[in-house]
Amino acid sequence: MIFTRDDRAGEGKLSSRLGLVTEAVEAGPGRDLYGYVVEQLSRGGKVDYVIVDEAQFLAPEQVDQLARIVDDLNLDVFAFGITTDFRTRLFPGSQRLIELADRLATLQVEAMCWCGARATHNARTVGGEMVIEGEQVVVGDVHRPAEDVGYEVLCRRHHRKRMTSAAARAAALSPDVLPVGAEVDEGAA
Ligand SMILES: [Zn+2]
Repeated sequence: MIFTRDDRAGEGKLSSRLGLVTEAVEAGPGRDLYGYVVEQLSRGGKVDYVIVDEAQFLAPEQVDQLARIVDDLNLDVFAFGITTDFRTRLFPGSQRLIELADRLATLQVEAMCWCGARATHNARTVGGEMVIEGEQVVVGDVHRPAEDVGYEVLCRRHHRKRMTSAAARAAALSPDVLPVGAEVDEGAA
C-alpha cells in the first residue's frame, strides 16, 4: 500500500523526478492511516508492506499511526521524505518519524550543491530569489524555477550565504560584486 501527500503530480499520485507515476492513497489531513489499512484488510485486501512518500508532510499523529501499523498489524512501513524545511527547521512529521522510527537511513543517491559539495539543505526561491520566511509547506516545482515558488538543494555553507546557483552565476558575471555579497553574518553557527 502506498501513501503520499502533496505529490507534485497531484492528489493520489506518487511521482519521481524521472517521470514515473503510480497510484497512491492521499494521506491528507485527518486521514487515519492505521484505520485505512485495517479497513482494507477487513475487506479482504492484501497488504504486504506500506510505503509513505513525502512523509515530511504527515501530521505527527499520522506518524504515530504508522508505528501502530508496524506494532499491531506486523507490517513493515517504509517512509521517505526530507527532514528539514527551507528555514532548516524539522518538519513536524519528520520530527515524529525521527522520534519513532526503528531505523533511519540517509539515501545513498546524494544531491549536489552547485559548488559540488553534498547538498544537505533545501532552499526555497520565489521569483528566482531565495527566501527564508514564509509558510512551512508550499509545494513547488524544481523544474520551474523562474516564477512563483521553486526549490533548490544547497550545501549548508551556500544555504547560510543565501547563494543559489542563479545568485552565484549573477555574482560571477558582475565584476563589481564580490561572490560573498549575499552573505549575512549570523554569528556562531
Ligand atoms: Zn555549495
